[in-house]
Amino acid sequence: MPELPEVEVTRLSFAERIQNAEIRAIRMGKPLRWPLGCEPQDLHGQRVAGVRRRGKYLLVDLSQGLLLIHLGMSGSISFGNDLQPSAKHDHFDMHTSLGTLRLHDPRRFGAVVYAPSESHATARKLLGRLGVEPLSEAFDAAAFHNALKLKKTAIKQVLLAGEIVVGVGNIYASETLFLAGIRPTTKAMRLSKPRTLLLHSAIRRVLAQAIAKGGSTLKDFSNANGQAGYFQLETMVYDRAGLPCRVCGSPIKTLRQGQRSTFYCASCQKP
Ligand SMILES: [Zn+2]
Repeated sequence: MPELPEVEVTRLSFAERIQNAEIRAIRMGKPLRWPLGCEPQDLHGQRVAGVRRRGKYLLVDLSQGLLLIHLGMSGSISFGNDLQPSAKHDHFDMHTSLGTLRLHDPRRFGAVVYAPSESHATARKLLGRLGVEPLSEAFDAAAFHNALKLKKTAIKQVLLAGEIVVGVGNIYASETLFLAGIRPTTKAMRLSKPRTLLLHSAIRRVLAQAIAKGGSTLKDFSNANGQAGYFQLETMVYDRAGLPCRVCGSPIKTLRQGQRSTFYCASCQKP
């Protein structure tokens, strides 16, 4: 599943190239997770003002309103002048004066949704509950600690929920908790300020590193230029059950938390 780094790498790979493009035609494939929210022809003649990211949404700003694109479980974006004719799993093609923006999504959990503005109910429904951006100034360590103090659930669940800070998906939750030396089952409210600070910096470091590596959590991930993530992220604990911890050599353990697999080292990570 594309996580925040993949979405950011996708954004970086086409945001500049699509700037000022004029929309000429939209071709819709099979239904995606949510409907487009307008008639495709209503978008004709609009210009792309820029591409931002919020959580795992790409926000394509248009002369009037914006498109919110989500990659779902298996979506990927391509943009260019030389795309192949659309095929079975291509469910959204936006032909513009500068090239075609395409969402390829075999499992169709992704979506492209139009909203007249970011404050419109359609956009707020999708973006409204998102926490702060982990790589922005708004992700403040003291505020993070205060927010965690109100959460009685396990820290890993709190990170995955994305209501305090966005972008820490299943892989990154296991990895950041390992780097911070925190057991994933520890109740968020029980974390001391020093431990919260370690977690805060681990989140920033792990996500920034994944973006720098080209979005590397997915074996089949490619950005809008069709370039694959450079290499699979070398994980410390994720997907390494039974293998020796890279720090202390103890076997990595796994457990289920809210239907998702968690990986941790019982000797490096304290409750
Ligand atoms: Zn260890």
